[in-house]
Amino acid sequence: MKKAYEVVVVGAGPGGATLAYELAQKGIRVLLLEKDTLPRYKCCAGGVTAKAAKLLNVDINELAEDVVTDVTVNFKGDGNYHGHSNQDLIYTVRRDKFDYALVKQAEAAGAVIVQGQEVKQVKSDVRWVKISTPAGDFRSQFVAGADGANSIVARESGLRANVSYIAGMNTEVVVAKKELAKWRSLIAIDVGFVPKGCGWVFPKLDHLSIGIACLSSEAKSLKRCYREFLNSLNINHYTITKWSGGLIPTCKREAIVSGDRIVLLGDAAGLADPLTGEGIQNALQSAKLAAPVIEECLLNGKARLKNYQQAVDEKIMPEIRIARVLQKMFVRFPEIALKLLNLHEGVWRSCCLLVRGELDYTAVKSKLGGVRGMYAFLSRALVL
Ligand SMILES: Cc1cc2nc3c(=O)[nH]c(=O)nc-3n(C[C@H](O)[C@H](O)[C@H](O)COP(=O)(O)OP(=O)(O)OC[C@H]3O[C@@H](n4cnc5c(N)ncnc54)[C@H](O)[C@@H]3O)c2cc1C
Repeated sequence: MKKAYEVVVVGAGPGGATLAYELAQKGIRVLLLEKDTLPRYKCCAGGVTAKAAKLLNVDINELAEDVVTDVTVNFKGDGNYHGHSNQDLIYTVRRDKFDYALVKQAEAAGAVIVQGQEVKQVKSDVRWVKISTPAGDFRSQFVAGADGANSIVARESGLRANVSYIAGMNTEVVVAKKELAKWRSLIAIDVGFVPKGCGWVFPKLDHLSIGIACLSSEAKSLKRCYREFLNSLNINHYTITKWSGGLIPTCKREAIVSGDRIVLLGDAAGLADPLTGEGIQNALQSAKLAAPVIEECLLNGKARLKNYQQAVDEKIMPEIRIARVLQKMFVRFPEIALKLLNLHEGVWRSCCLLVRGELDYTAVKSKLGGVRGMYAFLSRALVL
């Protein structure tokens, strides 16, 4: 096996696989290193927003288990807000298949894939980075840490300060065909069962993904709250075929995503949305921002990875900052989501535009007159 590459990407999730593809496409010698055997299960509800889908180099329709156009929002089973869109909002995927399709695409473009090899150490010197695995050491000019919430690349490089975590659990639940049919194209969200979090039902081809997530400070109550949430759904016969738990890192201040020879992507950088926990979109987005910067650095000795930091600061961080402001408000007053949806028709329309990438938090903030205006808008909903 070849041991020297221009770029080593650690972690074959959506972020790593997309970066490996983008670089291989340009003829760059890239190695994608994954600790698990592929395809691998990933704890995730498997919701790919239409906004995220636009960043994919594959056709989402070939991977989607369902196309969501309807969302219900409840508070402890009550409230019954139902929103419908004439356009696709979210595609549900099985992460094993979805991630593997992205890896296969990277491989077809020329990336070398090594799986079943956990990176144990990452050491940089002036010219190279050494990446140690049980199969031996690799070296490269640049390393991308796309190794998820517990990133060894982030730890070893000292990058990614200031993250907080959302704790989540997801189950795969097999139900009768008649029950499954009720959930076609429909996602259910409940904001009342877990403090500082929410529960969800995401429809898949032959089962439902049912889960719950909250700020990590409340994680101890997750299992109990999950049971209450599941019972509230009144599903008569079901079998839980898979339980899994995971953390979603979200940066509290500016994420530090680049060093001299190392960049961090997606969860490794703490780039998930603090309000919704959506992480696939920014994993893809960060890969797309990193690829041209790494290419430029390889072509031009004077170019710097700092340009990736700048791109993330400009394109991703403003959105994360606003999402965090909203998260604080929604965590404190969980019923606010339901009140807002019921009060103003425009709120549902704006949510659809956000999910489709036709509006962003920055535009919402400026429309409402800045952070103060956002607070004022949300507070008005609370007193009504
Ligand atoms: C309960 C739950 C539900 C979620 N639901 C959604 C959702 O519906 N939609 C959404 O957008 N996001 C969701 N997320 C978040 C989403 O799963 C992540 O944000 C997303 O997977 C991040 O992608 P990534 O490429 O950065 O990392 P990952 O997808 O985590 O991929 C990292 C890869 O690195 C590998 N790896 C780790 N360590 C090493 C190592 N030392 N050496 C080699 N390989 C390594 C891992 O095996 C993995 O394959 C959810 C998360 C949780 C916990």
